[in-house]
Amino acid sequence: MITSPMQFFRNLPKKLCTSCKKPMEEQADCYTNRCEKCSPVI
Ligand SMILES: [Zn+2]
Repeated sequence: MITSPMQFFRNLPKKLCTSCKKPMEEQADCYTNRCEKCSPVI
């Protein structure tokens, strides 16, 4: 049995917003720890 990389990433826990603690979906701006609503708007 070979564990595919895709399977590995599936098992990763979802990233939580550091502000509202809600699970965040994968986004392009993955460098932030806050969701869209909590991230500061310039
Ligand atoms: Zn948030």
